[in-house]
Amino acid sequence: MPSHQPVAGMSAIDPEFMDQPSAMAGTSEPNRNSKYDPKKPHITEQPITRANWYKHVNWLNCFFILGIPMMGCVAAFWTPLRLPTAIWAVVFYFWTGLGITAGYHRLWAHKSYSARTPLKLFLALVGGGAVEGSIRWWSRDHRAHHRYTDTNKDPYSVRKGLMYSHIGWMVMKQNPKRIGRTDISDLNEDPVVVWQHKNYLSVVAFMGLIFPTLVAGLGWGDWMGGFIYAGILRIFFVQQATFCVNSLAHWIGEQPFDDRNSPRDHVITAFVTLGEGYHNFHHEFPSDYRNAIQWHQYDPTKWCIWVWSKLGLAYNLKQFRSNEIEKGRVQQLQKKLDQKRSKLDWGIPLDQLPVIEWEDYVEQAKNGRGLIAVAGVVHDITDFIAEHPGGKAIIKSGLGKDATAMFNGGVYMHSNAAHNLLSTMRVGVIRGGCEVEIWKRAQRENKDVNYVKDDAGNKIIRAGNQITKVEQPMVSASAA
Ligand SMILES: [Zn+2]
Ligand SMILES: [Zn+2]
Repeated sequence: MPSHQPVAGMSAIDPEFMDQPSAMAGTSEPNRNSKYDPKKPHITEQPITRANWYKHVNWLNCFFILGIPMMGCVAAFWTPLRLPTAIWAVVFYFWTGLGITAGYHRLWAHKSYSARTPLKLFLALVGGGAVEGSIRWWSRDHRAHHRYTDTNKDPYSVRKGLMYSHIGWMVMKQNPKRIGRTDISDLNEDPVVVWQHKNYLSVVAFMGLIFPTLVAGLGWGDWMGGFIYAGILRIFFVQQATFCVNSLAHWIGEQPFDDRNSPRDHVITAFVTLGEGYHNFHHEFPSDYRNAIQWHQYDPTKWCIWVWSKLGLAYNLKQFRSNEIEKGRVQQLQKKLDQKRSKLDWGIPLDQLPVIEWEDYVEQAKNGRGLIAVAGVVHDITDFIAEHPGGKAIIKSGLGKDATAMFNGGVYMHSNAAHNLLSTMRVGVIRGGCEVEIWKRAQRENKDVNYVKDDAGNKIIRAGNQITKVEQPMVSASAA
């Protein structure tokens, strides 16, 4: 519920929105405010100071989101909670919560399934009982939230802080011009949405307070309990739970599909929000009627939609193909893998190594530097000779020579790990030598393999693809 959102039965539409383009504003908007001048600077354009802070506060929303629940808590002290009322309050909590999650959110904001009129009416009524504004209005903001996630045009961007995304955006005034525009022409054509929007005051008063009171009063004579527990306090809990989708679901949990934006998956958020907690998935696949895709994950909203479809009340349930979902998951895994790889020492990149003449290499090795050439790449193994698992004598016999064949099976077929380790010791490349030709050609021939790069442009060296690994060099040479 943004600042311009009507709360608890107040004006069904904020007059500040009256300068929206035609797709936003219907032809029969109630409650136009003649005092609103879109050309006048909005209060949010001035910094908050000691003198003007109270002008920044949305007192109406404060009263309905915080003031009334506080009064409800106080009244609860004098109102004993009876068991049938407690059960009714919980049941009605689920109904009104579903009105938001299955109705406002998945049906109207995202069109993730279609519903027959009786179901639509039910959802519009119980959703109204959650006191979070009209469907039209709520969906408009929610579409802006998806389209402009984490930006200044996102009405409840978590980048402005956890408390801001939870409640701050409602208790502080918002500049309506800041919020990103979205197309809601489909909602303006939905008779249930239009009816609920026009009669929002009556829907909210009846479904929010009168109906729960009537049920408890006529049912078991607990009028006051029905009003306080199933009415006021239940509204408070449904509101706080739903607000968690904007705050908690953008704050705690995993990001299995994309970590460039804030939405996250977490079971706690799912429990609090009737299954809306798999929010990283939801932002990636918003028109999927599911938020949780595993059978064991908690998504009662999805279960209800599925049951309604079996009863013929809902149809055209949309699902992304698992191929598309898995692609997203693999890409994110790949990104994490690339980040891990980039932290490892893969040796100086070949193109950054100095080119050494063969004679210079032999000369330096003769003068005591522990140089060894494998596949045209020179390695300084001075500090490694003593540690060589195959013994000092063998490794020393390769110094100053071309050890390609020795390393690649002539003496011992070295492991992938050995090639990896060797690459960290490389210091130069030999100009024009036979082995250099081999690796250059091997690189050309295996272009796809050797030049694979990750997101950050780092070369990926697959196991067995190190430059020093020469597969059957004689065959390659004869084939040339
Ligand atoms: Zn979100
Ligand atoms: Zn959504």
